[in-house]
Amino acid sequence: MSSVSIAVLPGDGIGPEITAAAVRVLRRAADVYGFALDLREAEIGFAALETSGTTCPDGVVEMAREVGAVILGPVSHNEYPPRTEGGINPSGTLRTALDLYANIRPARTHPAVPSVAAEMDLVIVRENTEGFYADRNMPSGPAEFLVVPGVGIAMRKITALASQRVARVAFELAAGRRRQVVAVHKANVMRLTDGIFLGEMRRIAAAHPDIAYSEMLVDAATAHLIRTPARFDVIATTNMFGDILSDEAAELAGGLGLGASLNAGDEHAMAQAQHGSAPDIAGRGIANPASLMLSVAMLLGWLARRHGRDELAEAAAAIGNAVDQALTRPATRTADLGGRAGTESMTDAVVAAIAEQGHGRWIPTVYVWRRTKFASWRFARLPAPAWATATRTKPWTSS
Ligand code: ATP
Repeated sequence: MSSVSIAVLPGDGIGPEITAAAVRVLRRAADVYGFALDLREAEIGFAALETSGTTCPDGVVEMAREVGAVILGPVSHNEYPPRTEGGINPSGTLRTALDLYANIRPARTHPAVPSVAAEMDLVIVRENTEGFYADRNMPSGPAEFLVVPGVGIAMRKITALASQRVARVAFELAAGRRRQVVAVHKANVMRLTDGIFLGEMRRIAAAHPDIAYSEMLVDAATAHLIRTPARFDVIATTNMFGDILSDEAAELAGGLGLGASLNAGDEHAMAQAQHGSAPDIAGRGIANPASLMLSVAMLLGWLARRHGRDELAEAAAAIGNAVDQALTRPATRTADLGGRAGTESMTDAVVAAIAEQGHGRWIPTVYVWRRTKFASWRFARLPAPAWATATRTKPWTSS
């Protein structure tokens, strides 16, 4: 069977630390679940600026396009020099260049991890290629203008096609979960653009009568998320609302260090933590690697679906379960979650726990939906049935 090719782009700040941790976990999962990896590491961010004169070299984008799957570490793009001096945001560039139109951001509480919300388990599906992102929502040039000094205009682009693609992903996800989709918008003010978004949401909702569909203004959504987060299952929304709501949801669920995400398209996908490069803690060995590890698990789930490879889905669920296991004890989770572990010792714990998944101690429950490219999983802990124990008493051979 062919090896799994993934571009690995460590990024800035804590990026190199958490990317190395996520790659260690990925390598362990590959050993246990019997698939070969072809990891192609390349420099982006400040490291690339020094060697190639740009934070996002064309060659890296081409390599990512060819490979199809990417692990992107966080980047400090706020600190980059202007574009004319080589400062290009790798995250936005890759999302548009690879047409990664859906940003899937789960937020789920863990029984052992202190969190603001008592219990929640939701997924935000955020449109990823247009909206209010003036640095990337036009085919050429920024969508921000200085009319006269002191007067600026930014344009928000909303298309039926992008809205429809996000709607489809949201309903496909909901079909494998609690079957509820909420479209979050501001159509009372942005009647035309959010009218287009809602029009597409309603069209796709009509094709899924078995899934409960509702709509909510974004300001109300911020309040309901705090007051009753457990009511949400799948939230579909435009780019900037999704960015803001997903940080809120991640914080409610335990913290940004748990915020995993997948940027998904039809042909490509990219694992990327929800948070930034956390320069305040970079190089101190204390960053929480869980966000990127869980993002890598989502990437494996996407690859499993795309290539019909069950062992990748099992590896994805095993990583999720192993992270869950590490989160249960303060000794194996990082300080941002009230724990005592550093990046490395938490990674040791996750790596060790993956072997246990591979030996059939737990059987992951994987929910994958018919006719979809998008997979999600719940990390249910159930005793392994006899067949699972029998087939996983030792690592499967590599192929
Ligand atoms: P950037 O400029 O790249 O956006 P930032 O520090 O402004 O970086 P985030 O990186 O999102 O924004 O971080 C916000 C806060 O959350 C920081 O205090 C940071 O230390 C903390 N944080 C973010 N990610 C992690 C992580 N993986 N582990 C521990 N703390 C984190």
